[in-house]
Amino acid sequence: MSDLPLMARELDSADELADKRKEFVLDEVVYLDGNSLGALPVSVPGRLDDVVRRQWGELRIRSWDESGWWTAPERIGDRIAPLVGAGPGQIVVGDSTSVNVLKAVVGAVRLVGEERDEILVDATTFPTDGYIAESAARLTGRTLRPVTPAEVPAALSDRTAAVLLNHVDYRTGRLHDLPALTAAVHAAGAIAVWDLCHSAGALPVGLDEHGVDLAVGCTYKYLNGGPGSPAYLYVRRDHQDRFDSPLPGWTSHAEPFGMRPSYEPAPGALRGRVGTPDILSMFALEAALEVWDGVSVDTVRAKSLALTDFFLKCVAAYVPDGKVESLTPLPHDQRGSQIALRCDAAGEVMRRLIERGVVGDFRRPDVLRFGFTPLYVGFGDVERAGRVLGEVLAT
Ligand SMILES: *Cc1c(COP(=O)(O)O)cnc(C)c1O
Repeated sequence: MSDLPLMARELDSADELADKRKEFVLDEVVYLDGNSLGALPVSVPGRLDDVVRRQWGELRIRSWDESGWWTAPERIGDRIAPLVGAGPGQIVVGDSTSVNVLKAVVGAVRLVGEERDEILVDATTFPTDGYIAESAARLTGRTLRPVTPAEVPAALSDRTAAVLLNHVDYRTGRLHDLPALTAAVHAAGAIAVWDLCHSAGALPVGLDEHGVDLAVGCTYKYLNGGPGSPAYLYVRRDHQDRFDSPLPGWTSHAEPFGMRPSYEPAPGALRGRVGTPDILSMFALEAALEVWDGVSVDTVRAKSLALTDFFLKCVAAYVPDGKVESLTPLPHDQRGSQIALRCDAAGEVMRRLIERGVVGDFRRPDVLRFGFTPLYVGFGDVERAGRVLGEVLAT
């Protein structure tokens, strides 16, 4: 077990992404909670200062045009697009993930015929997606049926209108088969809506390649946009003309400053907008996305898998037998960028880890969750996390 620190040093020195860590504000804490709130990129405070003092303070109303405020939702959407495998013009940024789930699920149902009376939702989903899908079903007069992702293929039928799935399970870190499930949904004539909260920025998504219809995701996890940074909505190009948002706010109008009483949706992805964009959060996000310049998502994925493999190796070496059990699948094609360990007294264990400078999180009732953000987590961090966990569990 004593060769693990050496192995960590070798892995760190071969790490192509090692220099990226300098682009974040970090200290000696091992931060394994980037799947909940990404760390602060160094460029953000200065950008926010400029947005507040100069753009707002001096240019004031002129900034809607001169500082690119008005077009920020689609401009930043195009910046996120390559990270999720989307061509330009299909993503708008704004609102929370919860709100975008409503737009996407209602929008999905409105793309299919009345005879399709059922919406399938991932029964293991992060709760907000389930709550919103239930409301979307009521709004559209459909029945909501919760099923596990594995049960989806058998549950599909000519009654299925839309299916809302998570790319990576927030609790267990399981990666679901987006290409195969999307193909199955399409074979049944239904619309596939994917939630990318736990995959965007951690692994390739391939929205265009796999023909995903609609997708949503947050930007404060692996995309490091900051607390409550705006989410995004992807509407596949060939659905855009028929996409009918349940929240047709004035900024999604074809002519927003025409101030007309009747609604006419803007062309393209713009019709996913709602109200006035949240400029301070959006510009923090835009600055945060600069850390992706020159970074390939494939390189990020390779490092993510190496980090989680190495963490499991350290846990096996340092943690007394039987104290933890991984809920995250071992096969790489079923693993996101986190490891979830089932553990007795997990809340207390996480409290002691945090006291000792290893920050993950606790999910009730008995799960320790560790997120590995490849842009700033190194192999030395992983070794220390495994070692401290072993020490805490030995006492
Ligand atoms: C993080 C997360 C959310 C967050 O939704 P908000 O509206 O941003 O609070 C939603 N769904 C999933 C699957 C998530 O992981």
